Amino acid sequence: MRDEDLKTQLSRPHGGDFGSVTPPIYQTSLFTFDDFTAFEARMAGESDRALYTRVQNPTVASFEAMMAKAEQGEAAVGFASGMAAISSTLFALLKPGDRMVCIDHVYPDAYRLMERMLRPFGIEISYHSGAEIESDPDLLRGVDVVYLESPNSMMMEVVDLQKVAAHAKRHGCISVIDNSWATPVFQNPLTLGIDIVLHSATKYICGHSDTVAGVVISSAKYIGMLRDLTLPLLGGKLAPMESWLLVRGLRTLPARMREHERTANIFVDRLSVLPQIKAVNSPGPNDVPGLKGRSGLMSIEFAPEVDVRRFANELTLFHFGVSWGGFESLVLPAAVALAQEGATNSLKRFGVPDTMVRLSLGLEEAEALWSDFKSALDKATA
Ligand SMILES: *Cc1c(COP(=O)(O)O)cnc(C)c1O
Repeated sequence: MRDEDLKTQLSRPHGGDFGSVTPPIYQTSLFTFDDFTAFEARMAGESDRALYTRVQNPTVASFEAMMAKAEQGEAAVGFASGMAAISSTLFALLKPGDRMVCIDHVYPDAYRLMERMLRPFGIEISYHSGAEIESDPDLLRGVDVVYLESPNSMMMEVVDLQKVAAHAKRHGCISVIDNSWATPVFQNPLTLGIDIVLHSATKYICGHSDTVAGVVISSAKYIGMLRDLTLPLLGGKLAPMESWLLVRGLRTLPARMREHERTANIFVDRLSVLPQIKAVNSPGPNDVPGLKGRSGLMSIEFAPEVDVRRFANELTLFHFGVSWGGFESLVLPAAVALAQEGATNSLKRFGVPDTMVRLSLGLEEAEALWSDFKSALDKATA
């Protein structure tokens, strides 16, 4: 599909034929051609008409165009999962002998990718806090890629992306950030100088806990690299049906994020005055330059008098579960996450306390969530 066609389709908005308000799903593996010349022109790269769904599909392209626009990037490419987006990006950028700096408390499976695949592949990797990367202008000297999350996983520490992007540029280092927590509604890292933004679209972008997907947004140059290398050759493509669900999710993303933020603000205000709470990790607007909102994923460290297991079991509206970003509220106790396999457990490596829980505040009524939380906490306090 040509660019102008896409724009027309999106501005309808998303309408298909017959005045339908949602776009059609091109559930097809291939696209055929009418004659030899047209087929040959496509193969020679003289036309960009859809050919084969591993590399290109109009429904996937609709989602990619919306994401590029939302993150203010030149282009985007979808992947089968957030991990496919992360691995396809890093394998396209790095070659044996290269150096990578990664932020502490990175998403656990991203950490395993680095330790179990990238390190054996010959990449030298070191981990640093955001404060270190931010304050040492020479830390990225001779480094090929800096991999960031802001906030990072579990501890929710934020980093000044403008500063890190400037250090990276000075040393010719490519900066990559996982922006899943903030979404394009609350943070646009490309406008702060970061080179490549990626998302686990499974979380807020989908927003309905019914799809696993990933997406990368950047300049035409870097997205071109991914389309040339890891998208076709590793083949972790995003499917048309998934893309359609993601377009559905994107239409309510700003409204959902406002509601997550409203509930999170209520929790942060009330938690900060409770004696049983040692720390609330929930970054908000202007905690670092460019952060425009507070999403619904936070972590809480309890004081010793709270029985964390009892607290979590007493919750009725919060379900036990990994992932986040959907309607339903979730609790993930650090003690549960720490129970995962030992050597590549990033929570153990980075010293996450077992008195911590991660909460994903969903879209249930805020006061109902608070009273559920408060009554579980009171029952669990000695
Ligand atoms: C879930 C998650 C991922 C991985 O995404 P998948 O879609 O599960 O592959 C990456 N980064 C963060 C911050 C996540 O929460």
